Amino acid sequence: MSVPIKIGISACLLGENVRYDGGHSRDRFITDTLGQYVEWVPVCPEVECGMGIPRETLRLVGSSDSPRLLTSKTKVDHTDRMLGWAQKKVKTLEKEDLCGFIFKSKSPSSGMERVKVYHPNGGSVNTGVGLFARAFMSHFPRIPVEEEGRLHDPSLRENFIENIFILRTWRESLMNGKKLGNLVDFHTRNKLLFLSHSEKHYRQMGKLVATGKSLSLDTLYDQYESLMMDALRLKPTHKKNGNVLLHMVGYFKKQLSKDEKEELISIIDQYRNEYVPLIVPLTLINHYVRKYDQPYLKQQQYLNPHPIELKLRNHV
Ligand code: SF4
Repeated sequence: MSVPIKIGISACLLGENVRYDGGHSRDRFITDTLGQYVEWVPVCPEVECGMGIPRETLRLVGSSDSPRLLTSKTKVDHTDRMLGWAQKKVKTLEKEDLCGFIFKSKSPSSGMERVKVYHPNGGSVNTGVGLFARAFMSHFPRIPVEEEGRLHDPSLRENFIENIFILRTWRESLMNGKKLGNLVDFHTRNKLLFLSHSEKHYRQMGKLVATGKSLSLDTLYDQYESLMMDALRLKPTHKKNGNVLLHMVGYFKKQLSKDEKEELISIIDQYRNEYVPLIVPLTLINHYVRKYDQPYLKQQQYLNPHPIELKLRNHV
């Protein structure tokens, strides 16, 4: 059975009335669509660190690297309270085994990037990070993170959701124990997916697995996970996906007629030129994989990395 995909999330995005004004910032895609596939772990830093509802609004003040968290009008400094709580919170989140975190944008506590930082003498810059978001990302540098606003961009959405599903598969593989054979199996099933993110990382990971016997299993797994998460942060592009699709055509050399091959390559070209979305060439390739029972391709996660109902590849 699959392990649940646990995702940390700013609680107001789920519709919890925890905002400063007693309201929420419910995001329908998050609750109604993505919510069908994941288990949420809600976090509201401001309420959990002891501020009430309603409360005065907060803002970051000072330098972008280490701003203070002050109430907007009365200038009460909540920095130490928030940082002290955040340090304990990230420790308790360790046991949740999160596959990702979705932050509320622009918040001085939860914003992941481009949060307003005010200069004490006036003016502001959009270069801050919310205090809890910063503590989380520094404690869990390998966990994929996004903001709700960015998830409305189809390619960022596809990338984040693909990442969390792959991370779940990785965790499942870890549950079977750290063994070279398990790692080879995981790597084999995900080769084309990694190639769609970064050829450089794909090669490095292949080399690492091939020479894995010379390392302790803990070191091998740690280095592999680090490379994998670096690779997954690099977004697939039309060019990178196009190369993977053409690579797959090579597996049907014997089965496809000249006509079928030309048609498939022409559809891949249409995708590379952005006339049709990724789902179009993939549907045809999936059809040939099933029809010819292609043993290598049929195990590739790249062909079905997340539920088709999410329609993520209809828009990239
Ligand atoms: S943005 Fe963060 S701190 Fe503000 S209400 Fe939402 S979860 Fe709470």
